[in-house]
Amino acid sequence: MLYQRSSALFEEAQKVIPGGVNSPVRAFTAVGGTPIFVEKAKGAYLYDADGNTLIDYINSWGPMILGHAHQPVVDAVIEKAKKGTSFGMPTQIETEIAALAVRMVPNVDKIRFVNSGTEACMSAVRLARGYTNKDKIIKFAGCYHGHSDSFLIQAGSGAVTFGTPNSPGVTKGTAQDTLLARYNDIAHVEQIVAENKNEIACIIIEPVAGNMGCIPPAEGFLQALRLVCDIHNILLIFDEVMTGFRLAKGGVQELYGVRADIVTFGKVIGGGLPVGAFAAREEIMNHLAPLGPVYQAGTLSGNPLAMAAGLAMLTELNNNTEIFDSLAKKTEYLHKGLANVMQQNNVAHTINRIGSMISIHFSETPVTDFKTAAEANGENFKTFFHGMLREGIYIAPSAFETWFLCDALTYEDLDTTIKAAATVAKTLQ
Ligand SMILES: *Cc1c(COP(=O)(O)O)cnc(C)c1O
Repeated sequence: MLYQRSSALFEEAQKVIPGGVNSPVRAFTAVGGTPIFVEKAKGAYLYDADGNTLIDYINSWGPMILGHAHQPVVDAVIEKAKKGTSFGMPTQIETEIAALAVRMVPNVDKIRFVNSGTEACMSAVRLARGYTNKDKIIKFAGCYHGHSDSFLIQAGSGAVTFGTPNSPGVTKGTAQDTLLARYNDIAHVEQIVAENKNEIACIIIEPVAGNMGCIPPAEGFLQALRLVCDIHNILLIFDEVMTGFRLAKGGVQELYGVRADIVTFGKVIGGGLPVGAFAAREEIMNHLAPLGPVYQAGTLSGNPLAMAAGLAMLTELNNNTEIFDSLAKKTEYLHKGLANVMQQNNVAHTINRIGSMISIHFSETPVTDFKTAAEANGENFKTFFHGMLREGIYIAPSAFETWFLCDALTYEDLDTTIKAAATVAKTLQ
């Protein structure tokens, strides 16, 4: 496949946009090479600027669970646009999507819409702090909750449990309020809680992690977190920006039967438009302005185009009872196919999968947290990524990302993908 036009477009973009991209992972830094500029997409396929067709396993990093340019979503946006694109006044459609979301998601009474997953997580943490009157938060190494200051934290040195900034611009003061725990390690969480008695407002977690590859929670881990939170008056925040409306109608709360206090959303809930949201039971949500003292706002929040796309998406997911099972079956089929070709070529690998999320790490040991994800063979991943791309398969350009399957993928597409992997596996160590 040729990427002349993409390369030229990337050159132009770099002159006026830092790194040529508006979000860093798009720049292919982790795998090398030139990012592909997309022209359009339909169903499971991407059509790039050079006229190549690619089978898409990223789906805009999750939102396009029904496939690209899904007709009911496109129609809803077009119809809304004709009536004006923003008013800064309430509209009925905001109530419609809120009511539907609250019906679909367990343990929440009210929801507020924002414009991104970052904003949702940032606001959820502020709400948790305002509600509990405590300052510190616990997050897990390898979990991503957007790019707001409190989350850009890495492990501190030695025995100290408070984090240090992992980006210039994040102050030490902010970093000291974020405590970093190991994913799937409840003893570590208990230790941090014991060391910071009555200071922790919330624990925020990707209840199924998708930002270090796909890493499901160990058996009993989420239940144990719930217990720690109950004992110590800590709010449990499930960041379901990735998993919400993807793994089940009610997300991970429904799937694992564990109750969160605040849930954040993004990606699928906006149907491909910029939307985030956070939800909780009434007593917590009523702490938000204008009812309560915790301030949070947005000029374009609840934007009618975004709400129309989200409502069309959620309506379809709510009505189509088969979809989550059917997606999980396709993902299992892909898993088996990929595992087969890797075994046949003696390539050390670990494939993690849940529902329509799947990822491959080139590692012999189970991948259960950030450390084990980071220990996998990165060179093999780069070779695999570029090999798959040559075969017309677009997977995430980093081993620290999950793949997302969409409903538009056919078993024929999956067979094409497995066949491509068989070719590429021969080039791996
Ligand atoms: C994508 C993501 C975010 C951030 O959402 P943006 O819309 O990119 O700001 C937060 N949390 C998780 C789990 C995500 O996957």
